[in-house]
Amino acid sequence: MRTKIEASWIVGHAKGAHTLIRDGVVVFEGTRIVHVGKSFEGRVDKVIAAKNKLVAPGFIDTHVHSGHRASHRLITDTGRPMYYGQPFLEISVPKEGKVVKGDPRYLKHGDAGSEAAFKLNAQFTIAELLRNGVTTFVEYGSQLRVQEALLAEVTRLGSRAYLAPGYDCGRWVGDDKGRLKRVRNDQSGLDGLALALDWIGKYAGACDGRVQGILVPREVETSSLEVLKRTRAAADERKLPIATHAAYSVLEFHDVVREHMMTPIELLESLGLLRPTLNIGHGNFIADNPNLNYALARDLELMGRAGATISHCPINIVRRARTLDNWQKYRQAGVNIALGSDTYPRDMIMNMRTASYLGKIMSRTYFAATAGEVFHAATLAGAVSLGRDDLGRLEAGALADIIIIDLTGRNSLRYGPIRDPVKSVVECGVGDDVETVIVDGKICMENGVIPGVDFAQLRADAQAAGEQVWASLPEWDPLGRTAEDACPWSYPEGD
Ligand SMILES: [Zn+2]
Repeated sequence: MRTKIEASWIVGHAKGAHTLIRDGVVVFEGTRIVHVGKSFEGRVDKVIAAKNKLVAPGFIDTHVHSGHRASHRLITDTGRPMYYGQPFLEISVPKEGKVVKGDPRYLKHGDAGSEAAFKLNAQFTIAELLRNGVTTFVEYGSQLRVQEALLAEVTRLGSRAYLAPGYDCGRWVGDDKGRLKRVRNDQSGLDGLALALDWIGKYAGACDGRVQGILVPREVETSSLEVLKRTRAAADERKLPIATHAAYSVLEFHDVVREHMMTPIELLESLGLLRPTLNIGHGNFIADNPNLNYALARDLELMGRAGATISHCPINIVRRARTLDNWQKYRQAGVNIALGSDTYPRDMIMNMRTASYLGKIMSRTYFAATAGEVFHAATLAGAVSLGRDDLGRLEAGALADIIIIDLTGRNSLRYGPIRDPVKSVVECGVGDDVETVIVDGKICMENGVIPGVDFAQLRADAQAAGEQVWASLPEWDPLGRTAEDACPWSYPEGD
């Protein structure tokens, strides 16, 4: 079947860069785009009218930790200074001998009720991503059963995903003062890599190619040199992209420097890992960041020379009083800046806006982090990180991953008059403005409705799961705190 979308505006593509087409058409047949331009005279079977709408390539979210992320609601406007703002140290490090409760990502095989919890986690994630126009996402190394549940929902709901269980050589526990202790187990890292390769062998290419594999040694400081070397060898052999957290935390930076006498980026470079298909999350605490006071910094130069990717998650990190220092320097060095949502909200339009605003502030010029650049980061840069030249763009031959954004702001006045639709979306839009989502030539969401997904039910289930996460905090928190101790209400409770 051949479908034509007639739109007021289209983000088209020519010679590796986006273009803007006014009053044009996008035609797709099967899984591929066959034509993008001013008009199309050939036969079509279906026409989608998109007047006052922007037709664009679907967004690529390069940094997704799946689930409802209820635990992250315990660190809003608060936290423990000695963790330097690093979120997961605050909310996913249990007391020694305990496990983090409530979040199915931490459940053990066979735990009661876990099937429903895994399903909720996966369904919430993929529905939220689709609702916000994300057609491809990278899951950042959750455990095996989370990946299985995601695979089932990707199959059912039709999105495109890079999946595979992540691996590490041991995580942290906290003592009764909250002091962190690494539980190191190098063998578990090697076993995890073997499991990931096995999983990828089984499922890469599933769902007509919508599911692909990615190697995720979770953090550079929790990966042994052996695990990193074998990851590189496997990625080279099987042509796989890689994602890992590196240069993302003050503590991690110091740990790696102490252990290896190199910065996290220098370590990755020494192992031959820096490349466009290495997705470094978040890459903001590099030696060049003046806050780290590191002399003879060359991280930015190394990353730029290799064209390495960072998954920049502007909303998630600014909540921890961090940002990228700075957008313009990274771009000028040659770093491929892609965008990610990391936790919540999974709203790529709000992430583009935040990236643009903070990019301008940190670069000290309003010429930096333009709407065009952040839109590129949310589409083409993500495709580069995955080694794909058939995603993130609307041109003949590319896969038909297309979104339609309503430039009336869902019948509000938010947009005002529109001169440049990309600037308008970045300045005035929200993820909710995405009206229709097409992946692989199939409509996954139409007029905000995803067939087979009940938003009210998902909200209610996520709320119930969240209440459990918050209520169970004293059982596993190293300091035995209640949710109210850890994260006081905005105002005292009134009568
Ligand atoms: Zn992350």
